[in-house]
Amino acid sequence: MADYDYDLFTIGAGSGGVRASRVAAAHGAKVAVAEEYRVGGTCVIRGCVPKKMLVYGAHFAEDLEDAKHFGWDIPECRFDWIKLRDNVLGDVDRLNGLYTQTLENHGVEIIHERATITGPHEITLSSGEKKTARYILIATGARPHVPSCPGHELGITSNEAFHLDSIPKRILIAGAGYIANEFAGIFNEFGAKVTLINRSDQLLRGYDESLRDRLLQISITKGIDFRFNAEFRRIEKNADGSLVVHMTNHEPLEVDCVMFATGRLPNIDGLGLEDVGVETDHKGAIKVDEYSKTSVDHIYALGDVTDRVQLTPVAIREGQAFADTVFGDTPTTIDYSCIPSAVFSHPPIAGVGMTEAQARDRLGAIKVYTSDFRPMKNVVAHRNERALYKMVCEASTGRVVGIHMIGPDAPEIMQAAAVAVKAGLTKADFDATVAIHPTMAEELVLLK
Ligand code: NDP
Repeated sequence: MADYDYDLFTIGAGSGGVRASRVAAAHGAKVAVAEEYRVGGTCVIRGCVPKKMLVYGAHFAEDLEDAKHFGWDIPECRFDWIKLRDNVLGDVDRLNGLYTQTLENHGVEIIHERATITGPHEITLSSGEKKTARYILIATGARPHVPSCPGHELGITSNEAFHLDSIPKRILIAGAGYIANEFAGIFNEFGAKVTLINRSDQLLRGYDESLRDRLLQISITKGIDFRFNAEFRRIEKNADGSLVVHMTNHEPLEVDCVMFATGRLPNIDGLGLEDVGVETDHKGAIKVDEYSKTSVDHIYALGDVTDRVQLTPVAIREGQAFADTVFGDTPTTIDYSCIPSAVFSHPPIAGVGMTEAQARDRLGAIKVYTSDFRPMKNVVAHRNERALYKMVCEASTGRVVGIHMIGPDAPEIMQAAAVAVKAGLTKADFDATVAIHPTMAEELVLLK
């Protein structure tokens, strides 16, 4: 170990890199982490965390409307985007500081430079300085993918959405995945005219079909427009700054802002992977084994740059497992089955385990239980928005293999329900649990 400057050199201080570095240091390793931007990575700086704050901010639009039906006399309200934006960015600064502190408290050296792997154990910093390490960990995450059509540079991505100077009056969002649906809800609640376009004819591929249909229907009711089978042809800028988007199968659309939410690409450019023999797949994701080891024995990679499951909690687990395996003398792998996930749309969606279609495909005989109900709060609020819960069970054993929900607080409820699914509990176990009344979650133990 003494032959190297560090035991571990991590490239990228996002969720996975920070956890790996901190735990490796706690195991006694001498660790440095290079981060060219800010400590915290996509999730903390320009992803999950600020996005969730905007979701909260956006929801007040409906809450204030609903409050009138609960007897509140609401004077005319005005939304101040700049205030929300700056409060959110202020909290991002705070979190950036906390993450930095965590690393420093564990004795991890933070190097604010871009790093390139230039030899089997050698890293060259943008300043030209060279460092050596026994192990190298690549945790550089992913970046937004932007389709290459003429005028694509006129659009923004979620990275810029957090810094806008004003809410566009008309916005076109490209893509129909997580980011597109979450930001469609946010911008719509803030008063923008939102049009979401996708190259295929469905949104949120991977989620249960009934929930996707319900979200589409509710989103349309809220005023969001959808255009499917629409591929970008070109974007043009008018003299007044507005943009005209040309696409297949639909008329051109004039908007004030175009936002791309068309997936994310692994950040591998300029890392020097080819020179040291680290293999990538056809999408550019770094190939790793079950211990996150790349094709080079002492170089590891984790998180979005490996494109296994692009979720923060997964990257954090991979970081922990890597550190425990390599520096904690405890070989640890990750169980990728039954990972719960959520889309913070309006209303949110959450799911764990197999969708109905997947279960039919894999298990054959299944039983499906649903509850399609109007949450009590929506009834009083005259909000004609129904929640939908679905439980998918293996027919022979009654084992719950999937739960899928759309409705208020679905992600909050799902976290607890996912424990039961992961533990392999049956429908009978759910039924044996007494309901908490009146709640929405009680539907899960009352399904018929
Ligand atoms: P998604 O993979 O969720 O969705 C991508 C969308 O873009 C799909 O509708 C896809 O269409 C479309 N698309 C993909 N490639 C192209 C292309 N070349 N041209 C046109 N359209 C294209 O990606 P997001 O960008 O929304 O999010 C990236 C990842 O970040 C997610 O996969 C998720 O793991 C993570 N994330 C998680 C969140 C959460 O947990 N709540 C929130 C935000 C992000 P099609 O359906 O035809 O493939």
